[in-house]
Order: sequence, then structure tokens, then C-alpha cells
Amino acid sequence: MPENNSYDAIVVGSGISGGWAAKELCDKGLKTLVLERGRMVEHLKDYPTTTLDPWQFEHRGVVDEIKRENPVVGRCYAFEEATQHFFVKDKEHPYVQEKPFDWIRGYQVGGKSLIWARQTQRWSKYDFEGPARDGFAVDWPIRYDDLAPWYSHVERFAGISGDRDGVDTLPDGEFLPAFEMNCVEKEMQKRIMAAYNDRHVVQGRCAHLTKPNPIHTQQGRAQCQARHLCYRGCPYGAYFSSNSSTLPWAAKTGNLTIRPDSVVHSIIYDEQKQKASGVRVIDARTNQATEFFAKVIFINAACLNTNLILLNSISKRFPNGFGNDNGLLGKYIAFHNYRGNLTAVFEGFEDRYYYGRRPTAAMMPNFRNVHKQETDFQRGYMVHYSAERSGWNRGAGLDGIGPDYKNSLLEPGEWQVFMMMQGEHVPLEKDHVRLSPDLKDVWGIPQLVISVDHSENDEKIIKDFHEQGRQMMEKAGCKNIVDIDTRQAPGLDIHEMGGVRMGKDPKTSMLNKWNQFHNCPNVFVTDGACMTSTATQNPSITFMALSARAANFAVDELKKGNI
Ligand SMILES: Cc1cc2nc3c(=O)[nH]c(=O)nc-3n(C[C@H](O)[C@H](O)[C@H](O)COP(=O)(O)OP(=O)(O)OC[C@H]3O[C@@H](n4cnc5c(N)ncnc54)[C@H](O)[C@@H]3O)c2cc1C
Ligand code: SF4
Repeated sequence: MPENNSYDAIVVGSGISGGWAAKELCDKGLKTLVLERGRMVEHLKDYPTTTLDPWQFEHRGVVDEIKRENPVVGRCYAFEEATQHFFVKDKEHPYVQEKPFDWIRGYQVGGKSLIWARQTQRWSKYDFEGPARDGFAVDWPIRYDDLAPWYSHVERFAGISGDRDGVDTLPDGEFLPAFEMNCVEKEMQKRIMAAYNDRHVVQGRCAHLTKPNPIHTQQGRAQCQARHLCYRGCPYGAYFSSNSSTLPWAAKTGNLTIRPDSVVHSIIYDEQKQKASGVRVIDARTNQATEFFAKVIFINAACLNTNLILLNSISKRFPNGFGNDNGLLGKYIAFHNYRGNLTAVFEGFEDRYYYGRRPTAAMMPNFRNVHKQETDFQRGYMVHYSAERSGWNRGAGLDGIGPDYKNSLLEPGEWQVFMMMQGEHVPLEKDHVRLSPDLKDVWGIPQLVISVDHSENDEKIIKDFHEQGRQMMEKAGCKNIVDIDTRQAPGLDIHEMGGVRMGKDPKTSMLNKWNQFHNCPNVFVTDGACMTSTATQNPSITFMALSARAANFAVDELKKGNI
């Protein structure tokens, strides 16, 4: 570490977006410091449960008591005995829920890249045009064509599997071969697409190496074995994470320094130079405060923590939070609406089965209000569905012992179908985060107050999904269709976005088209906080593309002496 703590670039956060910023900056020759509040997690070495079988866990994988003690993170489907060490427990990092909000976090090197579900769908031109056409939020300062080459750039390196479907609402990318749908999913696909000319069913694109290219083997990564134990960390490096991919690649350049256990407190603003000069850091273990300096700073602490750091970055120039001349910092927080589910059974194909545990599902890009406004709600939803033989894991839930018990497990049950929505939440000014005036964390940093809610528009979207989903299931031949409103709070979708939105006008947005603060060009935000709207696609591939694009721009600007 240089004696004067100075680098070319600082990246705050080592998750999906920070990993990409670091990789690009290091590839371009910048001495880059990555500051990460959590502990070090080294690829392979620090995946303690990755090869364990169910009977090797003390509680056979079930952690009901821990879930009761941690009701927020306990509601996350991926939180279990095998993965709990990668999730923040409720009491460790408290926050204030002005309205119910399940804030799911992963504080470690790699962030949530270790525990994400790896679904990676590009946005389409309709998504970027949405706010301007429908009159909400502000117009995006970029369009699909601005991001398309950067989607390609990150897809080639990360390794994304998928079919080339030729659907304009879900553009194709640089794909490795797709996972196969099973026979019931295929049959449903055929019947749904025959019944509607505006609806497409495709295999979900996901960040798995189905057939590694040389760029992946150079990263030390190998082919996916379809075990679907991914949330434990993959021993093959077969899914994309910062730990298996971007960070080790950046380290190989010799330009990367990672400093774990470094809680970033705030950005330092140099009033004379009129730009940011570095960040204040508190050592998570010793509480010692240190300052680090750089010419360019990327804030990638994940949406809500990025908002927190900026709100906490007070200076004479920015008394209301970093870059916050227009009072919009922390506002227009948005998320994906996951409340609608449907279940059903599918009769037929009882003589058919499938092998492996495929880590993706069939999906349908949004088909509502795509070309024009045509419903009584704004925007729409994406649909995911999957079919499986019931009882594949019923051994864990059934009573019994001996040969009769074993024999009862040999016959698979009926085909069951699960369908869910991923709705676009239209951002509203009232949905916001702010700093608590009195509650602090153990490092003396104010706790975050989260005030975010479902809207009337979200309720209408849920109703429409239940109607349309039921109709599609009927046309596909499903029976016993049941609709469910989980009534879950926002946050559990783990796709929080906004608060530091991009836009064309400094009066109505915080960041310009390169993710640079309008009023402090050497600071960039490229995680979910920068998102002007949410669209319906899983967001992380868009965060990756924005991060890579902004990092390359920052290097060019630095060379030109503009920042
Ligand atoms: C169970 C689950 C399933 C998901 N499935 C999908 C999916 O299928 N597709 C998809 O697109 N997305 C999915 N996501 C969401 C995805 O994980 C996030 O969108 C993505 O990780 C965001 O990247 P990020 O870099 O913004 O944040 P993160 O990956 O969370 O990284 C942020 C990092 O910043 C660090 N940090 C925070 N505050 C500070 C601070 N003050 N100082 C220093 N460091 C700090 C954190 O410790 C963390 O390491 C899922 C998430 C979960 C948990
Ligand atoms: S399904 Fe593939 S990516 Fe997931 S743990 Fe298994 S081999 Fe790794």
C-alpha cells in the first residue's frame, strides 16, 4: 500500500458492479484500490459448504431457529444452513424500516455476486424509452444502442448462456449454449406461443458456463455441472461472481489492491480543487479511521448503501449530501414487484423425467404496454415459469424409516408448475431513504431510514398478472390453478434501484449519461442507485454494462486531463 494512501482510482464495494469497475480500470493501467466493508472471501478456499451433502450439515440444511431470530434475511429463499455465512444477519447491521422493507445484503469480498440467482436479461429499446413515453421519472440520458456494445463486452467475459430468440423486447446477446427446457415447459411454450401472437417464451439467460470459451478458461473457470448448489460458491467457478472472475483478473494485472474490512464512511471533497479527493474509511475490526486518495472514485456499495455513503458525505460545498444540489438524493427508490405467483398441475408426460438441476427457468419478456399504453396501469411485468416432478426432495419432509421409506421415494410425483411475476415499479418521489438523526451503527455512521412502499399501480399489475397468468396456464393445459399474493414487503426482490438517478438535466437528476455526477465529474455511481427506472428484467447485467462503460470513459477522461 503506498505510504501516502494515494491511488489512481478508488472503487467502493467489491460486488457485481464494483468488480466490473475494478477490472476495467486495472486492465487500462490504473492503480486501483477496492475498499470492501466485509471480510475477505477467496474463490474456492472460502466456500466451506460447497461440496457438502445434506447429511453432512448439523441441521440437515434447515435453520428455522436462525430464521426466527432473523426474520428479514430469514425470508430470503436462498438463506439456509449451507449459505448463511454469505448473508448479513438482521441484528448485525440494523436499519430503520419506516415502512416494511426486507433489506437483503451480502457484506464480503464479492458482495451479493456470490449469492445471486444469475439471471441476466438485457434491457430493450422499449425499456429505455419508457419514462419519456409514459411521463414518469425523467428521460434516460442513454438508449439501448449506447449500451448494446457494453452488454456484449460483459457477456463475453462473464459467460452468459441463452438461445438467440430474435425477440425485440429481449435482445439477444453473446450467448453460450442454453440449458434445455424440460418436456412440460416445452409443451407449455408451444401452446402459449400458439395462443398469443404478442407473447414469447424463451429459456432464461443466465451467467453460467455451459460451454466455456478460452476467455473463461483463462480465468480458471470450468463448465457448469448443473448441480444448482450455486449459492454456496461454485467449486468450478462455473457461474459468474466477482470472486471467480473480475477480481482475480484485475489482480493479475498487478494494478489491484483489495482492502477488506474497510467501511467507507464518506467522500472527501476538496473545496479548492472543486472535486473529490478521496474517501474516509473506518477499519471494521479496530475502528481506526483512515483516509485514501485518488483521482477518480467509483461508488459501488449496492444501491441503498451507495445512497447512505452519499447522504453521509457532507461538506461546505454539499451540505445536504454529496452532489445533492437539487434535493433529489435518496429519492425515487424503486424495486421489482414480486408479489404475484401461480401454481398448477400438468397432466400427461408421466412417463417422462429430466436429469440434473438446471439453474434457470423459462421466461416471458414483458408483453404489457410495450408499443403503446393499453391497460389501466403503467408499464408491465416479466413472467418466469418452471415445471418439475413433485416430491423430488420429499425425503426431507416425510416420516418413515427403512426399505418402505426408501421405496416410497423412488416414484416421482405429478408435474407441478410454478409461475411468478417480476413487475416494474414506477419510481415515485415519496419512496426514499434518509439518514436517521439519532441512531448510529457501531462505527458511528447514521443508520439508514427506508421509506418505500408498493403503489396502486403495483396492485393493478398484480391483478393483471393473476388474470393473464391464469389464462395462459389454462391455454397451456394446466389444471388446479391457484393464484397467490405473497404480500411480501419491497426489498425481498433484492433488486433495489434509484436514489442517484441518471438524466439529462442537473436540475432533475444526479448523474449524467456517463454515470458521472453532474456537479463533480470525478465521482461515478454505476450500481443500482444510478437507475432512472427499473424495467422488468433482472438488473445486474445492466449494472455490469454501465460499470464497464463508465470505467472506460473515466480512463479516457483522465488521460485527456478532464477529471
Ligand atoms: C438471493 C438473490 C438472488 C438474486 N438474483 C439475481 C438475479 O437472478 N439476477 C440479477 O440480475 N440480480 C439478482 N440479484 C441481485 C444482485 O445480487 C444485485 O443486483 C447485485 O449484486 C448488485 O451489485 P452491486 O455491485 O450493486 O452490489 P453487491 O453485489 O451487493 O456489492 C456491494 C458491495 O459493497 C460493499 N459495501 C457496502 N457498503 C459499503 C461501505 N460503506 N464501504 C465499503 N464497502 C461497502 C458490500 O459489502 C458489498 O460487498 C439477487 C440477489 C440475491 C441476494
Ligand atoms: S450448477 Fe453450475 S454454477 Fe452452480 S454450483 Fe453447480 S456447477 Fe457451479
